[in-house]
Amino acid sequence: MIDLVQRLLSGDKRAISRAISLVEDDDASGWEIMKGIHPHSGRAHIIGVTGPPGVGKSTLVDALAGEYRKAGKTVGIVAIDPTSPFTGGALLGDRIRMQRASLDPGVFVRSLATRGKGGGVSAATGSTAKILDASGKEVVIIETAGAGQSEVEIMRHAHSVIVTLAPGLGDDIQAIKAGILEIADVIVVNKADLEGAARTAKDLESALELRSRGPWQPPVLLTVARDGRGVGELREELDEHLAYLKSGPGWSERQALAALAEVQDIVARRLVREVGGSDSWEEAAPQVKAVAGREKDPYTAADELIQQYIRRIRSQDPAGRE
Ligand code: GDP
Repeated sequence: MIDLVQRLLSGDKRAISRAISLVEDDDASGWEIMKGIHPHSGRAHIIGVTGPPGVGKSTLVDALAGEYRKAGKTVGIVAIDPTSPFTGGALLGDRIRMQRASLDPGVFVRSLATRGKGGGVSAATGSTAKILDASGKEVVIIETAGAGQSEVEIMRHAHSVIVTLAPGLGDDIQAIKAGILEIADVIVVNKADLEGAARTAKDLESALELRSRGPWQPPVLLTVARDGRGVGELREELDEHLAYLKSGPGWSERQALAALAEVQDIVARRLVREVGGSDSWEEAAPQVKAVAGREKDPYTAADELIQQYIRRIRSQDPAGRE
């Protein structure tokens, strides 16, 4: 395991892949890896890219990775969107489109299945980003689709969040504006070659004006990801956002939030495993079965399981540490 961590830290692609798989399976050796890499993480600029399906996120991520490579930076990509070509969900044409990033030895691409054992996709995403960070990638891009709660969870792992939209989203844009703009550090209107892009951008700008102004005002940028137009400017804005975070309390605030989320997440996962027992219905505790049968309410069942767990660890530890 120490050897695997050493190879991972030196940037060995096979070691990185292996480590991510172990962590994704929530295997005990995965935990050892995460312990080993922690002191070497916290250096990469972690960028989240989100937005509805079809707006061009994968194309944009590919082009953005290209811009960072031009600037001499190494890049890691974590793709979670099940429709993303990275995850094999798209047509052949889309796979060809992604080739630039996947053929470049300075870019490491990893897709994560949304199934997510154990800690689920959010935990696996955070760990994968951290592995890529520790392996020496200077920029780590997380790509995900949707606008739900899991989305916001995943974006907690990022320093800079890009919300991607495109013209012609219709009524969707209202819903998106209401929720997801709250998490945006940079807003991109992609497919600027299509009609209505400038109008969409104006719309978003007015929506932003209505919000209380923080010290960082998210810029609205127009891009054509397919041919790379505007993507250089996007990279410059991201560099500026990073400089902004580092020049004030933002960077350490985000590190603090990440530490809090990470530890709480591990505590929750371990306790659920210890206290709540198996995920499988066949092996579920009698209390769980009683809830399904409406013989017991879930709060009472949970309290009983916690009490049982406390009694069990006390009996294993007669010194009675509290
Ligand atoms: P995602 O689902 O958000 O990841 O979107 P994709 O990157 O898979 O792109 C969806 C479709 O939009 C693909 O057919 C792309 O070729 C196309 N596309 C991506 N960027 C642009 C763009 O800037 N302009 C136009 N017209 N099409 C684009």
